[in-house]
Amino acid sequence: MASSLQVFKFGGASVKDAAAVRNVAHIIRHYQTGPLIVVISAMGKTTNALEVIHDLRFKGADYASELAEIHHFHTSIATALAMDSAALALFEQQWNTLEELLRQAPTGHYDRDYDQIVCYGELLSTAMVHGFLKQEGIHNTWIDVRKLIQTDDRYRDARVEWDASLKRKSELASIVQEQSIALVQGFIGQNSAGYTTTLGREGSDFTAAIMAFMFDAVAVTIWKDVPGMLNADPKWFKDTVKLDSISFREAIELSYYGASVIHPKTIKPLQNKGIPLYIKSFIHPEESGSIIQENTAGDHLVPSYIFKGDQDLISFMPKDFSFIVEDNLRDIFETLSTLGIRVNLMENSAVSFSICIDKNDYKRGLLFEAMRERYAIRYNEGLTLITVRHWNEHILHELTAQREILLEQKSRQTARMVVR
Ligand code: ASP
Ligand code: MG
Repeated sequence: MASSLQVFKFGGASVKDAAAVRNVAHIIRHYQTGPLIVVISAMGKTTNALEVIHDLRFKGADYASELAEIHHFHTSIATALAMDSAALALFEQQWNTLEELLRQAPTGHYDRDYDQIVCYGELLSTAMVHGFLKQEGIHNTWIDVRKLIQTDDRYRDARVEWDASLKRKSELASIVQEQSIALVQGFIGQNSAGYTTTLGREGSDFTAAIMAFMFDAVAVTIWKDVPGMLNADPKWFKDTVKLDSISFREAIELSYYGASVIHPKTIKPLQNKGIPLYIKSFIHPEESGSIIQENTAGDHLVPSYIFKGDQDLISFMPKDFSFIVEDNLRDIFETLSTLGIRVNLMENSAVSFSICIDKNDYKRGLLFEAMRERYAIRYNEGLTLITVRHWNEHILHELTAQREILLEQKSRQTARMVVR
């Protein structure tokens, strides 16, 4: 039988207050006949707040007021939603588990402890939404997604173990299929040792794609506070344009260059199974939004702009004035890889090799220390990396009118400039 399963994802902004949660219920109500998997993130900025708590606790500092703040934030939403104690039961249960966990001493494993605590953002938010939907008469099953998604041990940046996860699927497949609506947490998983892991900040989009892949959904919809995938960040640009339809390939390119609408890992599982991804506005759910799918016909219609601020441009020149050849490159890349420094752009000339990286003074210090003996190093900081997909000369001219260009690279589809 052909699947009709859909996956919805609601991010932190779509559950940031009572009105937002009501709106989520309003959208879900239209899809009650299901089957539907709903993935939800932590409410508002709860993940950041939990990060602070973890850090304070780890240092042995007091965090009681920060914890009370999180409790207050959630319970005020519940109060504004007029949730009764039955509707709040699962939330209370999750809250008690969190408190119990916090009463134990930190284990000394910073990243592992982080995941055990920070996962509560999603556990609390889904528990709350579950109760509210129930109270509103929208039948749904709350599922602990950690029972479904198995990952490796890389805490805070875990990789999905697909085969193991697909084995766990059988346990819950019937629940997901029979129930009209299954509610799960974004962002979190579990390793084979039974510890909670997280998929990297903003990872809930990826969870939606994992669910769609595992359960062969017909479509994924990410509900956002923007009308769809825009050609530029409205923070930088006044006149943004919606991309109505772009290909998986184009979406991967855009997120690789830094477009922040969807988490970069989201596309691959969907592309692999040909599952279309819709980006829609939770404020105007009736509008068409954007669709990301296999067809490439719409890719070239609108130029996209991606700005990355706080960039360092660093040049290495071998002190013995040797050419930049494989040996130097291996040397440089090995150091970058060991330090976990991601290169946003690179360029080599006869006797120098330049990289553009995100500002991180600590890592830059380590990099210089490792390279100083063999290379003369020059660098500029406080730069912006501009990427334009489907560029033309007029656009580039306008973008760089008042700026000094330190480095420029153009291919047929993509122009990139490091500017001051
Ligand atoms: N709550 C997590 C975060 O804020 C995951 C997400 O929002 O996608 O990073
Ligand atoms: Mg978030």
